Amino acid sequence: MIEPLNPKTENIVSIHDLQNLIRGMYFEKDVQRGVDGTFMWLMEEVGELAAALRSGSPAEIREEFADVIAWLVTIANVVNCDLTQALLEKYGSGCPGCGKLVCDCPDSEKP
Ligand SMILES: [Zn+2]
Repeated sequence: MIEPLNPKTENIVSIHDLQNLIRGMYFEKDVQRGVDGTFMWLMEEVGELAAALRSGSPAEIREEFADVIAWLVTIANVVNCDLTQALLEKYGSGCPGCGKLVCDCPDSEKP
């Protein structure tokens, strides 16, 4: 028998699920804090990720990646942006520059 997915804990399998999980845990607080305050938390976590990448343990690096993603998802929730839609629109058909699944844009360009 297949266990039903538990959306609250360990079975995060998609950006959609993660966005719903974060919304369920924090939405009211996030809306009260607003975009500006939430963006500052994201920037703080980006700094912590940089420090962990330089000198952190693998566990610390994992934790900081999780925090950065969580705060990014939080901002998306506050502005009611569906991240699954955003990612599919931008990257769902391949590289936005060259349209290929393995980018062959010139090295001088951003991707
Ligand atoms: Zn490309």
